[in-house]
Amino acid sequence: MENVDNLIGNSKSMKDFMGNTYYYDCLGCEIGKKNIIPPGGIVYEDESFVLAGDPEIPLKGFLIISAKQHKNSLIEFTANEQHNLIDIVNKSIMVLKKLGITNELTLVQEERSKHFHMWIFPNQEWMTEKFGKGVAYVRDICEYARKNTTEDEKREIINTIEKIKVEYNK
Ligand SMILES: [Zn+2]
Repeated sequence: MENVDNLIGNSKSMKDFMGNTYYYDCLGCEIGKKNIIPPGGIVYEDESFVLAGDPEIPLKGFLIISAKQHKNSLIEFTANEQHNLIDIVNKSIMVLKKLGITNELTLVQEERSKHFHMWIFPNQEWMTEKFGKGVAYVRDICEYARKNTTEDEKREIINTIEKIKVEYNK
């Protein structure tokens, strides 16, 4: 059965898509402290945010921005942090498009998650064909990817993170 807590980041344990199991009080805090490193590693970080792939959902180019501090809402960050966040979003979009991973992004940030994070979700043709277009299908696509991604595809997803890292940090 699908675990809603995991999808929104309120879970107490998680198995990443390479099979590593982690237990924690707050997943966002552990990623923020780099006690948990999502498969493929960290793309970019500043004092306030970490940009990496999603640990649980194997989807090519799916990136998550996690706050380093345990905050819940965008309005809890300083103006400077908010500015830096938008820079990360902006650069992520540019890199994902430049690498040809997607032509169209969906951004998701839910305050019902206790730890601030933002999804940078790259829409791809197969998703539209299989599910449809738009935010309503993001959950179904994630669930499908979690259950159906092959080991070869997972390796390709990690290779893609490497390419994103290189391009992002040029
Ligand atoms: Zn936290």
